Amino acid sequence: MEEWQDILSRSITRVSELKTYFDVDTQKTRRVVNKYPMRINPYFIDLIQNRGDVIWKQCIPDIAEIEDPFGMKDPLSEEVDSPVVNLTHRYPDRVLLLVTDQCAIYCRFCTRKRKVGHKFVVTDDTIRAGIEYIRKTKKVRDVVLSGGDPLLLTDKKLEWILKSLKEIRHIDIIRIGTRIPCTLPQRVTKRLTKLLKKYHPLYINTHFNHPNELTKEAQIACEKFADAGIPLGNQTVLLRGINDDPDIIKDLFRKLLTFRVKPYYLFQSDFVRGANHFRTTIQEGLEIMRKLQGYISGLAVPHFAVDMPGGGGKIPLLPNYIVKINNREIIMRNYKGRIYRYPQITELTPVSEEPVTVTQQELFTEVETTVGAKK
Ligand SMILES: *Cc1c(COP(=O)(O)O)cnc(C)c1O
Ligand code: SF4
Repeated sequence: MEEWQDILSRSITRVSELKTYFDVDTQKTRRVVNKYPMRINPYFIDLIQNRGDVIWKQCIPDIAEIEDPFGMKDPLSEEVDSPVVNLTHRYPDRVLLLVTDQCAIYCRFCTRKRKVGHKFVVTDDTIRAGIEYIRKTKKVRDVVLSGGDPLLLTDKKLEWILKSLKEIRHIDIIRIGTRIPCTLPQRVTKRLTKLLKKYHPLYINTHFNHPNELTKEAQIACEKFADAGIPLGNQTVLLRGINDDPDIIKDLFRKLLTFRVKPYYLFQSDFVRGANHFRTTIQEGLEIMRKLQGYISGLAVPHFAVDMPGGGGKIPLLPNYIVKINNREIIMRNYKGRIYRYPQITELTPVSEEPVTVTQQELFTEVETTVGAKK
């Protein structure tokens, strides 16, 4: 048994075990866990500094999960856009393939609460059928392995999947979506990185939500991947009471760059049944983005996106930088709120070196001149 397997085997999955760490309400917690499984491995539970803190909220079951009357079981309609079980084909050239239903912890806000931690959701047969679909669907160039957490699979099983995908000529890249560097960094062994680097071009997208997760162990895990030539991206979920604060997000994204991880997405919380207590407003997300752009390294600025209920997919959102646009010019607000003008190719008047003064009147015409609108 490898070290990570030992750590994982000592995970807390029962309320009685959780009670040896924290005094939680047995009855209520049991009701939650019966519906949405709990797993907290010893590495992750040790990151909790105080009851109710940012790590606690991500992994300790909360009665709000089962009292939530809102939200959707499958908010992204993954099952609708699914030609074969556990594979979602929504975008033209890429698919999402679930290769496991297990994770190193079960995040209470998970979009796939309906699936993770439940047994026999993903089987060798569903994986095989997914790979078969990819094999015969020539327009697929990019495969995102997800779950569950793909890196909880054994090296052997992972290799079987990667090898099968690698043999498909029309596949350009493979991506692995994994929370392992954050939730069980010990899993990133030499053997694993040696295996993964045989399947380049391979990308890893990890998932950190708070600077408290950026431990020495996490750093070592990320660096091992980077040293194996694997480009690392990160997706963060905007979570109420956890990271809904520009300073926390700034700190997180800056530190991720020092781990050689590029912030890729900041996601608005999905409209998931049982996770509404984690949602912020969209405006809060936009405000955070406004406080990142220009203030910190552009490398640390991700896309802010909402994955739309009903299968609309990810739609990016930007704070509004456009004041006015037409065929002659664009008037824009920079990150500090100052107004500038850029002349279009059809405009012949010389450009002023000074910031532009825009009258109140002009500011209000902004609504009428949407991007791309024809006169
Ligand atoms: C997120 C997602 C992808 C990958 O999207 P990118 O924007 O390319 O990272 C692919 N398929 C599905 C179904 C997804 O939800
Ligand atoms: S690791 Fe990812 S898939 Fe697993 S519970 Fe957390 S958010 Fe969901």
